[in-house]
Amino acid sequence: MAVHAHPDDESSKGAATTARYVAEGVDVLVATCTGGERGDLLNPSYPPVEGGIEAMREIRRAEMASAARALGVRQRWLGFVDSGLPEGDPLPPLPEGCFAMTPLEEAAAPLVQLIREFRPHVVTTYDPSGGYPHPDHIMCHRVSVEAFETAGDPERYRGLGEPWQPLKLYFNHGFSMVRMRAMHEALVAADRESPFGEWIESRQAREIPERSVTTRIACADWFPARDDALRAHATQIDPDGFFFAIPRAIEAETWPFEDFELAVSHVPTTLPEDDLFAGIRPEGS
Ligand SMILES: [Zn+2]
Repeated sequence: MAVHAHPDDESSKGAATTARYVAEGVDVLVATCTGGERGDLLNPSYPPVEGGIEAMREIRRAEMASAARALGVRQRWLGFVDSGLPEGDPLPPLPEGCFAMTPLEEAAAPLVQLIREFRPHVVTTYDPSGGYPHPDHIMCHRVSVEAFETAGDPERYRGLGEPWQPLKLYFNHGFSMVRMRAMHEALVAADRESPFGEWIESRQAREIPERSVTTRIACADWFPARDDALRAHATQIDPDGFFFAIPRAIEAETWPFEDFELAVSHVPTTLPEDDLFAGIRPEGS
């Protein structure tokens, strides 16, 4: 089960990994916390969206369905409203009733229920920083940890299904500094323009601590599926922008993996790993 804050996050974080596991016969479910209805239009070639957050919610539902088809995953909405990315100095308050303002127990309840229904062995989410300072990403981390810790406890979240304890919890690290640096250097070496240098500088300026990668999934064969899923989010992803800045042949040569950090494991495993299911299913199966 891959838990994400907004529709499009499943396509930009760990997407090729989910497509690979689907191809191997794993039942993969994406759980999306919010409808992404406060997402800005980020694709300059997309026509203006009229009709406010209701219109955006409808568009993003359709985009999500098409991205899920591209990856081969199933997807469920957890039903919360996008908090939006506050901008300005001072930052404006978050909108009332949004996901990030929801009390933790209330915010985690639908995920606990979904874990008890779907019974995943592995759950992926974001690290405590959110990986990116969007309040919904930080909240996504909090609800994922809360649900992972309590879904198996019969005393907690009563009435939301039979207890189920997932075995491993991972954080996505697709945007690790070491990967972004490698991609930047590969572009420079190929005499191409790189948007990643600027990205690295702004990340350094924010002093986001680097976390350790424990698990590296080889998934270059599924980069095309990931790209189809990204393009499905047409309001959010500029087909000429950041995500498509590196030619795929260079990317596959430079970084044919997606990276994760094993945060909790209830099974014995040896680090580093090359499989999210290491210790759960027999090797090579
Ligand atoms: Zn997001």
